[in-house]
Formats: sequence, C-alpha cells, structure tokens
Amino acid sequence: MVAPEYVPEDAEVENPLRPKTLSEYIGQEKVKENLAVFIEAARQRKESLDHVLLYGPPGLGKTTLAGIIANELGVGFRVTSGPAIEKPGDLAALLTNLNPGDVLFIDEIHRLSRSVEEILYPAMEDFAIDIITGKGQMAASYHLPLPRFTLVGATTRAGQISAPLRDRFGVVLRLELYSPEELARIVTRSAQILGIPVEADGALEIASRSRGTPRIANRMLKRVRDFAQLMSGGVITYESAKLGLDRLEIDEIGLDANDRRMLSTMIRFYNGGPVGLETLAAAIGEEAVTLEDVYEPYLMQIGFLSRTPRGRCVTRAAYLHLGMTPPGAEQSAQQTLFHD
Ligand code: ADP
Repeated sequence: MVAPEYVPEDAEVENPLRPKTLSEYIGQEKVKENLAVFIEAARQRKESLDHVLLYGPPGLGKTTLAGIIANELGVGFRVTSGPAIEKPGDLAALLTNLNPGDVLFIDEIHRLSRSVEEILYPAMEDFAIDIITGKGQMAASYHLPLPRFTLVGATTRAGQISAPLRDRFGVVLRLELYSPEELARIVTRSAQILGIPVEADGALEIASRSRGTPRIANRMLKRVRDFAQLMSGGVITYESAKLGLDRLEIDEIGLDANDRRMLSTMIRFYNGGPVGLETLAAAIGEEAVTLEDVYEPYLMQIGFLSRTPRGRCVTRAAYLHLGMTPPGAEQSAQQTLFHD
C-alpha cells in the first residue's frame, strides 16, 4: 500500500488524475517557478527547451511533470525507460523518429547501459548520432543529424548517474516530499475528478498518512472510498479515513509494518545504530536500494532516522513513537531521582 513505486493497478486511476498544466500541478513551487521561466523563454525564442533532469523518490510526480513540459511547450511526448532501451540501436530508432522540438522522457535514466549512454552524448549535445554498420572491411560509419529535441531524464538516485551524462543536462531539478497540506489538496482534487465526496479533515487524514507522496495518497483515497461506502454513506469523513487506514495497518504518521520492522530491528539488534545499509538490508530481507529509495527518504524527513558516516541511526523520536525507551533515558531518570 505505501510502496511508492508504480504498480499496474495504479494505471486506472493515475491517467485521469495526472495534472496536464503547471498551474494544475500542486506543490513543488520552486521547481514550477523555474520551469515556467525556462518554458516561456524557449517558447518565445521558438527553440527547444534545454535537457532537464528530474530527481527525487518514486511517486512524487516526475513523469507527470515531464508530460506537463511537453504539453506547455505544445510538442509531442515520447516515453521510455532506462531498462527498456537494451541496445544502442533501440535508442537510435527512438531518436530518429522524433519530431522537431519533441520531449523524450527517459525514466530510470541511471539504468541505461554504457553503450547506450555513449549514443546519447552526441545526441544531446550536437543533435546527431554516429552509427557503425557491418564489421571489419565492410564496416561503414554514418553521421545522422537529428531534429532538436528535449530530453527529460528522471531518476530516484542522482548519485548513480555518470558525470558525463549529468553534465549534459542544462536544468537539474530536485523534487521534494510533499507537505500534508499539499497532499490534502491533491487528495481533494483527485476525489473531485473521481466523483468521491470527501470532507476536509478526511482528506487531511489521508494526506498525513501518505508519507509525502502523491502516488500513495491517490492509492489510499481509492481504498478508503470502500470503507466510506460502508460506513459513512460514501462520504470520506475523518472517521472513515481513520478506520480504513488503521485497518490497512498504516499508522497515523504513515508508517507501515515494514517501516516499524526496520526501525525495531535496528533498535533490538544494533542498539539503534550506527548500522551499515547492506547489513540492515540483509537483516530485514530487503534490497539495499529499496531501503534507500522507499523507506529512508520519509523516515529521514520525519526525523526518525539519521545518516552518519558510520551508518544509519534511529533517533529518539523513533524510539518514542514505537513505545520503546531511548538509550540514556533510564540513566537520566536515575539522575533526576538522585538529584531529588
Ligand atoms: P514519478 O514519475 O515521480 O514516480 P508520477 O508522475 O507517476 O511519479 O506521479 C504519480 C501520481 O501522483 C500521478 O498519478 C499523479 O496524478 C500524482 N501526482 C504527482 N505529483 C502531483 C502533483 N504535484 N499534483 C497532483 N498530482 C500529482
């Protein structure tokens, strides 16, 4: 439920819910302000927009924003992803089929293979590709000019993008987790589109448990609708939202069983840390990348987890939330007693 990655069931609700213009896109004010300027300037000069790299945790609206860029520029929008482009020829076929000004969106761009990346460099910089066909004496090289296009790359991990690729993006924008108020506006907007009546405190309750992520908020809205139908005549109230989300074992600040398991493992087996990422991943049977992309951003945002050079540490706030005694608390209680 709270995994922010895309799953096929999301498609049915996500498509109609995706904002089409910058003004419909809620939150990320700094990103929107910058993009608005770049888009307007490119439009006035009748040029293609500089290549844009969007980074941030999954489900925050990177794909949506790429679509908005194309829409605001009034150009075509092509979507692909790093793992889908297996060979240099796949990318060459995509690039040579673009129309002038088009936006090409590559999701998970950090997963492009080296050989594919090498085709991308001249394409981004000089709007041309060099293709070699045949082998040995039969080999021939062709220089193919491309239409000017805008590459929008998205990644959850900017650190994994090679320096030469990163340097070729003129605009690099980081998306942040959303505040509960922004998510409440997203929930209210989505509910309106889907025709679900929702009260303000019902929307805020869903928002507060969505760990800063619109994709999770929209998914929870769908689930809570079922509870509201049986409990409160179809209207999402505070009570029906609370009951629905409690039943799904998502607590009032958005943690699910996996988050709690990770934190309590760190406390029980590693004295709250520091513990290395790989060790922790092995201990709870998850992949290290999942911990980094899915669990950590939110736990760090709410101050439950800190990163130190020696590993991850659980904070005092997390101990208290889990109903456990933070280290040092007993000692200070004794000291207080002693003082008295
Ligand atoms: P990402 O590409 O970062 O994984 P998406 O662009 O697929 O995320 O967004 C996931 C869902 O969240 C979309 O269906 C979209 O409707 C919704 N969404 C994301 N950002 C916003 C926003 N700023 N305002 C309204 N809805 C949003």
